[in-house]
Amino acid sequence: MTRVHFTSEAEMFAHKAWDTLELTPPADVDLVARKLGIDLHRQEFVPEIDGLYLKIPGCPPVIAVNSSYVKPPGRQRFTAAHEIGHHLLAKGRTVAGRVMFLDCTDTRKNSTELACDKFAALLLMPEKLIREHYQELAGNPDHRVAILAERFGVSSWAVQRRLRELGLPYKVDRFGRRY
Ligand SMILES: [Zn+2]
Repeated sequence: MTRVHFTSEAEMFAHKAWDTLELTPPADVDLVARKLGIDLHRQEFVPEIDGLYLKIPGCPPVIAVNSSYVKPPGRQRFTAAHEIGHHLLAKGRTVAGRVMFLDCTDTRKNSTELACDKFAALLLMPEKLIREHYQELAGNPDHRVAILAERFGVSSWAVQRRLRELGLPYKVDRFGRRY
């Protein structure tokens, strides 16, 4: 499975979720999970763990997100979306058997992990909406990243990465120039 294929699939799944569930920012990850028949739980784990996805034949798929106070709400939402990505990308690919992905802070980013991150970014920050809100906040470049993070329910770091991907400048120099 090539990374390109995974990424386009991730994109397709994210678009489909927005279209069929009529989501509005911040995207309701619990609703997305519920519609997919996934049991989404929040539980405190050791700080090294972000979340996990588990599918045992004959049982509903389970996602557990680390709700420890060291994981900010935006981070937890990104993890939930990432695990939903595991569900969608694993579907139909595995022979009968259990599927488990454990995501830790140091999990190596192979093509599956990158595709799940991509899915999470697209689900939480769709290009069209990010561009619209970015434009709308043109008069407030100093606080734009923070406001976008608040509106889309993600971390400022995730917003910055998304803006970089979309080629939207978000930094302001001391002369007020954006870069
Ligand atoms: Zn993962």
